[in-house]
Amino acid sequence: MTTARQVDREILDAQWQELLAAASAARERAYAPYSRFSVGAAVRAASGEIYTGANVENASSGMTVCAERVAVWNAVSHGERSLAALALVTETGATPCGACRQVLVEFEADLPILVADTAGHTWFTSLAALLPDAFPRVNYR
Ligand SMILES: [Zn+2]
Repeated sequence: MTTARQVDREILDAQWQELLAAASAARERAYAPYSRFSVGAAVRAASGEIYTGANVENASSGMTVCAERVAVWNAVSHGERSLAALALVTETGATPCGACRQVLVEFEADLPILVADTAGHTWFTSLAALLPDAFPRVNYR
């Protein structure tokens, strides 16, 4: 990951540790019988609440939804409109896909993101680094 900075998991503060644990737990609930690539995501809303998501695959591949979008749908459907942080856990330490990056921009263009793999490696990056010059949110709410 070229935009990411590797960090020692032990130095994460309590809020990041909590968000990472929530993402790891969500990953255990992934429905990924086709790819076998389980993903867990947890977003902290500006309110401080944590919302989780896991990838949900479908026999009709195009219907599959990423963990990050499930977490965002979860937060928004609970009334949240602004995000403060995202933690993402995969086997490989993957960053959010392009579609999820654009969805996340809607709720915080410079979202701090913690990415972790299942071997214990952890990286910090940000949505602004992952998606520069994003299509901006329209401010008519
Ligand atoms: Zn995605």
